[in-house]
Amino acid sequence: MTRRRMIYEGKAKILYEGPEPGTLVQYFKDDATAFNAEKKAVLDGKGVLNNRISEFMMTRLAGVGIPNHFIKRLNMREQLIKKVEIIPLEVIVRNVAAGTMSKRLGVEEGTQLPRAIVEFCLKNDELGDPLVSEEHIAAFNWASPQEMDELIALSLRVNDFMSGLFAGVGIKLVDFKLEFGRHFENDVQRTILADEISPDSCRLWDLETNEKLDKDRFRRDLGGVTEAYAEVARRLGIIKESAQGAEIVSFNGAPK
Ligand code: 5GP
Repeated sequence: MTRRRMIYEGKAKILYEGPEPGTLVQYFKDDATAFNAEKKAVLDGKGVLNNRISEFMMTRLAGVGIPNHFIKRLNMREQLIKKVEIIPLEVIVRNVAAGTMSKRLGVEEGTQLPRAIVEFCLKNDELGDPLVSEEHIAAFNWASPQEMDELIALSLRVNDFMSGLFAGVGIKLVDFKLEFGRHFENDVQRTILADEISPDSCRLWDLETNEKLDKDRFRRDLGGVTEAYAEVARRLGIIKESAQGAEIVSFNGAPK
């Protein structure tokens, strides 16, 4: 077996050099971390589910014209992606108050927001990914004014699309985090969606019961973390239940 060159190891994913120039392989680990890696665990099967869910989301988003880094899934834990220069910001979109917004502003968790709110955090683990304003971003040149316009417009389009998609399967999209990258092709630079979209990076509540189907189950010691991720995958049609347990299916419904 040839050994690939590791480019970067993050908390939940590893990036390897891809088979062709301009590509990378994104490997999804089972590791879960929270509170800036103060809390850690290995959750059997999480990486496999996130690989599938992120593939599903990125493919659907590409289908409605939202450019992203996903090329194809390689196997259970890996996907081929376009190499980008990551913009050092986390873009958070919120529809319902929860998490740090509730803590910071004293708004009760579960309060519907009057409109979708976009926040920016600086990607910096040592500083705990602090919230930053557009003034900070411009002053420190973390993203250009044109990129900021693109980040906001693309994030709101992702929100509209994903809110509808999840509502259709009985899930409320409370909030989520996106990352974007600069993609260079034939000297043309484009802002595209990168990283992953999964229950690690979204808050997903059952529409009827408000049961949490996301990483808050881990953060708040609620148990059943991978079961909740599997439930999201099941509702999206990515896995189907069989007498033998959960079975992964391809998009056309055939076992894979
Ligand atoms: P909060 O700011 O309330 O902690 O998070 C808002 C949303 O962004 C949640 O859906 C949360 O999962 C996601 N999020 C915020 N920071 C991170 C991060 O560093 N990693 C991941 N995977 N998701 C994050």
